[in-house]
Amino acid sequence: MTAVRERRLAALRTALDAAQLDALLVSALPNVRYLSGFSGSSALLVVTAEEALLLTDFRYSIQANVEAGGVVRVIIEPTSLWSRLWAELPLMRNVESIAFESAHVTHADYQRLVEPPQGGARWQWRPSVNLVESLRERKDETEIAHIRDAARIAELALERTTKRVKAGMSELAICGLLEGELRACGSESHPFETIIASGERAALPHARSSSRTLESGDLLLMDFGAVSNGYCSDITRTFVVGKATAEQREIHDVVRESNATASGAIRAGMRGKDADALARGYIERRGWGEAFGHSLGHGIGLEVHEAPRLSKAADSPLPVGSVVTIEPGIYRPGWGGVRIEDDVLLTAEGREILTSFPRELIELG
Ligand code: ZN
Ligand code: ZN
Repeated sequence: MTAVRERRLAALRTALDAAQLDALLVSALPNVRYLSGFSGSSALLVVTAEEALLLTDFRYSIQANVEAGGVVRVIIEPTSLWSRLWAELPLMRNVESIAFESAHVTHADYQRLVEPPQGGARWQWRPSVNLVESLRERKDETEIAHIRDAARIAELALERTTKRVKAGMSELAICGLLEGELRACGSESHPFETIIASGERAALPHARSSSRTLESGDLLLMDFGAVSNGYCSDITRTFVVGKATAEQREIHDVVRESNATASGAIRAGMRGKDADALARGYIERRGWGEAFGHSLGHGIGLEVHEAPRLSKAADSPLPVGSVVTIEPGIYRPGWGGVRIEDDVLLTAEGREILTSFPRELIELG
């Protein structure tokens, strides 16, 4: 792993050099983890052309050295990471202009940067965006293996859960079953709040699982993920409890075909908006354009929502090595909704769909 982190630090240094920056203060924890390996909840990382320094607190003194010790210099600061930063920065060589991650620094922390204690004012603090995030878009083999594993865990947990779902259970009870299976199958945590939405609640794309009880004939939308070695999967399937109606089948078919159209044609180099249009165009041609109001998908990795984006507004090309979701949906207030979400790796040759749980409409219970 040390070689991997060294490569990432070298790539960041190249980006800093190109932006005429001497250093980056990394405060976003997923970025800290990506560069150093440290997975704790409190850290500041400073990367210069010559060194990399990780500041964290006493709770992580063992963990930080184990995870990041071979790659960065680790300092355990018992009182204040920011005070220690002011003490350490003057000792770092050739540092005048330092970037901070403007998307991840609170206003209070920004005040600390621009009004440091005496002696701190000689640095030029410059806002930066996406310096590390853009490196994270292209996954290496190890990262892909972790995402693959997270997808495997999610699908195994789904398979075990669906065997136990029946009318009369509440959404929360199903959520508990699924989350229990996810843990039993090896998921380290839940990458986001598990969505179990039944009946007309399936029309809420980001529903919270509720105490609503499933009735026979209900749509059941399950959107969830697993985490393996810090990497996320994200999958959605929509079922019917009991017998499906012709209308449920028809709408499920439109979403499934839209998903298949995008999954079959997406490729690296395409802009995010063009990928979005593949699925959206299909749904529009079938007459349901108004009912698909969200974007097609997003990158997954150390975070469940990361670059690149697949949306009407996404102008940037999708890089080789990115892993993205494809998640078209149709939502009808008062009726319900259907979404089918897969995780797709974009390769130089084409694509590999990492999720393989059946996409046809399954009747449960
Ligand atoms: Zn999802
Ligand atoms: Zn998603």
